[in-house]
Amino acid sequence: MPQHKTVYLDNAATTRVDPRVVEAMLPYFSEQYGNAASQYYDMGRRAKTALETGREQLAKLIGASPDEIFLTAGATESDNWVIQSTVLGGKRKHVVATAIEHHAMLEPLEWLKKNGYCDYTLLPVDRTGRVSPDDLRKALRPDTGLVSVMHANNEIGTIQDLPALAAIARDAGALFHTDATQSVGKIAVDVGRLGVDALSLSAHKFHGPKGIGALYLRKGARLPAFLHGGGQENNRRAGTSNVAGAVGMGRAAELAAGEYIPDAPRQGRLIGEIWQALSLAIPKIHRNGHPEDRIPNLLSVCVEGAEGEAILGYLDMSGIEVSSGSACTSGSLEPSHVLLACGVPVELAHGSIRISLCHWNTEEDVKLLIEAMPGAIERLRAMSVTWKG
Ligand code: PLP
Repeated sequence: MPQHKTVYLDNAATTRVDPRVVEAMLPYFSEQYGNAASQYYDMGRRAKTALETGREQLAKLIGASPDEIFLTAGATESDNWVIQSTVLGGKRKHVVATAIEHHAMLEPLEWLKKNGYCDYTLLPVDRTGRVSPDDLRKALRPDTGLVSVMHANNEIGTIQDLPALAAIARDAGALFHTDATQSVGKIAVDVGRLGVDALSLSAHKFHGPKGIGALYLRKGARLPAFLHGGGQENNRRAGTSNVAGAVGMGRAAELAAGEYIPDAPRQGRLIGEIWQALSLAIPKIHRNGHPEDRIPNLLSVCVEGAEGEAILGYLDMSGIEVSSGSACTSGSLEPSHVLLACGVPVELAHGSIRISLCHWNTEEDVKLLIEAMPGAIERLRAMSVTWKG
């Protein structure tokens, strides 16, 4: 097998844990392994201090106060918490979300509806993936308990106008939640400025460890507990605290503020270079998402006459790792629900490729992609029976 440099360009799926994050976490596996709830001896107290420091570091990153941060196993859990607790623990049983939410929102909604616990309305989006405030107004009902609109979309990168949407939800007396898994740690996110009541995030999207995330819940926002058991997380989310995870997430949050977010404009320039080169070299290639309101590190394209999965295969042979869309649905032959909601024709949606950078990606990485992709598509089109050039 030829040996290639691996060029990882799928940072929307997950990111490499920063070695400084690993270093911060290590003592909490081997030396300081105490239970943060065991407050009668030193190791337990140290664990608690480390847990709370991680919480404070994360809170600072998103402009929250530490007692508004509830640690979870990640964004999937945070999303499920918001939906289930609103619907099962409150009187208002109607939820408004968008047609382009991650499956971590859509699947629990569908399950709850199928089992008679809730009803939901999905807001349409325009071609760029944006939700209209008027559509939200129309979808609201007296029994709407929750409005959930993701911040940055994980497939196309489009950012929603959350302050405007949150104000509408607030006027209707509904909790306003956002899934900010793709924006936190990549661009500046401030819960106060966004006007949200609740926000989900995952540490592994910004160079922290997998299996830890958080739900931000604005002080005074009412949301019943999710996991019942011990009294952890202020009696809202039971289970022995993931101290090493919290330490890692906290350190990653610090690094995000100091290094990853300030690097976003450079990543935006690299994405611009990629698009410029690909659009010149590949006929019938289309860019997805909003031209300006989007996270800078992500490029989503659709190419005519070539399957996204097949393009991935060719790029993989050159050591280039990208995605055809959401990591959670890759392997499925269904076209992306996000692209279909944006009005991308089914045939074209099958030819989607998502490229997502991080602060470690270089000009050299971009050059390798730009060299490899046109050839891969040319070869696939030459084999296609439907491609007419
Ligand atoms: N929400 C969004 C927008 C995501 O991109 C992801 C991960 O891809 C998730 C939720 C789920 O995150 P996790 O798998 O860390 O729970």
